[in-house]
Amino acid sequence: METTSVIKGNKMKIVYDPRFELEYSDEPAAESGRMQVIYEALKDLYEFVKPEPASEDDLSLVHTKAHIESIKGSGLYDIARLAAGGAIKASEIAYSGEPAFALIRPPGHHAGVDFYWGFCYFNNIAVSVQKLRKEGKVKKVLIVDFDLHYGDGTANIFVNESQVAYYHLLRRAKTQQLYTLSKYLSKLKDYDIVAVSAGFDAHVEDCGRWLETEDYKEIGVLIKEFAERECQSRRYAVLEGGYNQKVLGRNVKAFIEGFKD
Ligand SMILES: [Zn+2]
Repeated sequence: METTSVIKGNKMKIVYDPRFELEYSDEPAAESGRMQVIYEALKDLYEFVKPEPASEDDLSLVHTKAHIESIKGSGLYDIARLAAGGAIKASEIAYSGEPAFALIRPPGHHAGVDFYWGFCYFNNIAVSVQKLRKEGKVKKVLIVDFDLHYGDGTANIFVNESQVAYYHLLRRAKTQQLYTLSKYLSKLKDYDIVAVSAGFDAHVEDCGRWLETEDYKEIGVLIKEFAERECQSRRYAVLEGGYNQKVLGRNVKAFIEGFKD
């Protein structure tokens, strides 16, 4: 982490902790080297900051007591709550006016109020959104998810929350997908913050075989422009999926290039 004070004029913070490099299970999301390739792609470009673990009170904003106890019993509690804390840190940086990206794992968007699967344990983005809302900092929140997989956990958590919109980028014909996102964003008004579930497994060289690296930059630009227009530029993203280490670093880098100030 010694090179992390280099900023080079980029207004954008990366929330990261070397503990995310630990191979905490045999799941693809926990694979050895996965965090390091992203870290390497970003380390000379952006300032890095460390998160604090989410507290049990934070996790309880989203999950049942039984759910939290179950994760405690899995042996993954410490790393999972550090990931949720990473999302919280990114949300606080975004609220204060600087865009942020939480380079964290395990991912979160398949964790619901009282269920979890798909390498997810706590719903990192949902915990961060609910904490901002509970503290009265924001009311209306947009969550954009461009992971290959639908964030059923996130949708489950916010199903009865009229103030939190969840949008998942659907697979469409090549020229249609970004147009659809752009059209959706153009109809939304007066949000307080936009949070992004940034998964990179839809890439042409990952499981989705669909999006190109430059598409991630374009998605970043579209969401940035929305944030500038409708929510005082407040925006942050958290890592979800993305498994091909040959392309993962450059894909995250491309998204952030579009997303940063
Ligand atoms: Zn995924």
